[in-house]
This record gives sequence, structure tokens and C-alpha cells, in this order.
Amino acid sequence: MIPLVDLQAQYATIKKEVDSAVMKVLASGQFALGSEVTNFEEEFASFCGARHGVAVNSGTSALHLALLAAGVGPGDEVITVPFTFVATVAAIRYTGATPVFVDISPGTHTMDVSRVAKAITTRTRAVIPVHLYGQPADLDPLCTLAKRYEISVIEDASQAHGAEYRGTRVGSLGEFGCFSFYPGKNLGAYGEGGLVVTSDSNHAKTIRSLRSWAEEPRYHHQRSGFNYRMDNLQGAILRVKLRHLPAWTEARRDIALSYDQVLADIPVTVPTGLPYTKHVYHQYVIETPHRDLLHAILKQHGIQTGLYYPVPLHLQPCYAELGGQVGDYPNAETAAQTNLALPVYPELPENVPKIIAETIQPCLSDLAE
Ligand SMILES: *Cc1c(COP(=O)(O)O)cnc(C)c1O
Repeated sequence: MIPLVDLQAQYATIKKEVDSAVMKVLASGQFALGSEVTNFEEEFASFCGARHGVAVNSGTSALHLALLAAGVGPGDEVITVPFTFVATVAAIRYTGATPVFVDISPGTHTMDVSRVAKAITTRTRAVIPVHLYGQPADLDPLCTLAKRYEISVIEDASQAHGAEYRGTRVGSLGEFGCFSFYPGKNLGAYGEGGLVVTSDSNHAKTIRSLRSWAEEPRYHHQRSGFNYRMDNLQGAILRVKLRHLPAWTEARRDIALSYDQVLADIPVTVPTGLPYTKHVYHQYVIETPHRDLLHAILKQHGIQTGLYYPVPLHLQPCYAELGGQVGDYPNAETAAQTNLALPVYPELPENVPKIIAETIQPCLSDLAE
């Protein structure tokens, strides 16, 4: 069985380092926040080229607190895409603001920035581009627009640790960069985790305060805060793993290249990126009208593939109140029906791309006849 991601295979390669880091934390007696978290915040912020990092307990919490620090609240609007993981939109709802969708671009599956200006109103407070699958959204034109209208850019970089836009790592181009360290992400904790990077020290201070009950001083609460703290154990594990991330990213890019090669003569669409970005292949996603068939056939052959995401958010029952209808965001709807994620993780056996190509080619040629 070839899984979509294999966390045990990765742990086997770093067991010694992780185990000793974990033991140190157990002996230290510091569990909720702590020096490992503080060090990780500095190391990850510097990895992103941002001045501050504030670690939290999930990517969802990172988005929630970035929105609050941007001043988003009830009555405001936040622009994002309908083709993302549900958490992007859930975080907007947590603040009481209204999500406003703009469609994705068909080739890159990220926000079609040319549609954003039309979606801006006097209530718009922020825009959340999502670097879906590890592919940076087109940040330059978006940041220019956001500046003109004085709205905050909050990057959802949960799938894009280390991805680059014109040579700069994502997360540091917007006012805020939000990351998830859910175990399956390119940089994953052994549990839950998240982090906000920002170069604005006031924003960092606000987020730091809100993640732990907004206490100033202890047991005095200026505003309503949260228990969104990162575990010290996760901080220690993430520090170990961050050191391996550049090599893991290159391994993912090598696998993507070999998929590109073996799929070149097969009638499926392989991922295309903006030429000035560096894709980190959180997912390697092909497009085909025969998506469900390939998903089933590969499963029969012991190869797991993924559907990210089968239902766009404007058509989810939980967001029916937003009034989305079939046909509103056609590019998102098409992607939901045609996208298929193939296994990609640094330890993926080298022959898998070839096996996949040889498995799908005969059924696609049968269909063509
Ligand atoms: C994983 C993910 C999140 C949420 O992160 P959690 O750590 O699971 O809360 C948000 N946005 C996107 C695009 C994600 O992939």
C-alpha cells in the first residue's frame, strides 16, 4: 500500500534527534509554552524572513488571531477563495465577520487576483490568499491593491512552508503569514500546532497576548482572550524538523519533477505554477475529467490518492447562510470535480511515479477509443 503521506517513514529518519529533544522537555517540566517554543518562534520567523513569530496551537488559531490583530470583527468583510480547507473560512466566521469569495484561477488553483478589486467594499478589512498545495498565490498585485484600499493581507501559508514568491519566502510578504503544523503538513508537529509571522511588533504583541488569555498582569484581562498556546514538546519537535525542511522540500520537488516526466505523454494536466514562484508540493495535484475513475483504479492497485477538495466552501451546508449557489465560482467547482492528489512525501519510493503512470495510461487510452 502506498499512502498519500507516511509519517512513520519520516520519523524513522529522525528518531534519535526527536527522541532526545522530547526527553529534554519531559525533564524540564515546562509544558505549556516554554523555551523550546520561544526558540522555535525565532527560528521559524527568521526562516520566513519575518521579524516576529508567535506560536499557537493550530493553523486555525493562527488565522483567527491574525484576523483579530488586523481589527476584523462583526460587520466587516474578509475576501478569500471558496477553494481551500474549511479552516480559512471558519476563522473568518469566528471573528463575526462575513467571508466574501472570489474565484480561483484555473491553472494555479490560487486566488484570481484580477477579481479582487470588484469584491472590495467599504466594509472590507482583510484579504486571505491561500497558497494552496504549496503554490504561492500572486502576492505582488494583491499587496498593491490591499495597500491602495488599506486592507490587511493575511497569507494562509498552511500548505506552503518555505515556498517562494519572487525569491522571498511566503508568510513575510503580507501583513501576517499563518502556518499550520498539523502532522501531515510539510512541516508537521507530532500533534497540533500553528504560528503567525509578522514584521509588525504591535501585531506580534497583540497575538502573543490573545493566545494566552490576554493577561496583563497575571489574572487581569484587558480583553477576551483564548487558550491557544503551543506545547513545549511540539516546539522541541518542530525545531528538530525545521532543520530538515529544506532537504525535504527538495525531495518533494524532485518527486514532482519525476511525476511531470512520467505523465508528459498521458492526457492529464500536471500542476503549473507562476514562473516566478517556488512550489513546495504539499500536494502534487493533477487534473482530469476522469478523476473518480483514476482515484478508484489507483486504489485497487494499492495507491492512495486524495481529493482536495471535493466540495467548494460556498456549497458546504455549514455556509448555506452565505447564499452560495452552484455556478457562482465555476473554476472552484471544476477543480473540485477534476483535481486528484498523488502521493508526495520526501520518503516516497522512487518507482512510484512510474507505477502510477503505467497504471493510469491504459485506462485513459481505453476511454479515448
Ligand atoms: C491545514 C490548513 C489549515 C488549518 O490548520 P490546522 O492546523 O489544521 O488548524 C488552514 N488552512 C489551510 C489551507 C490548511 O491546509
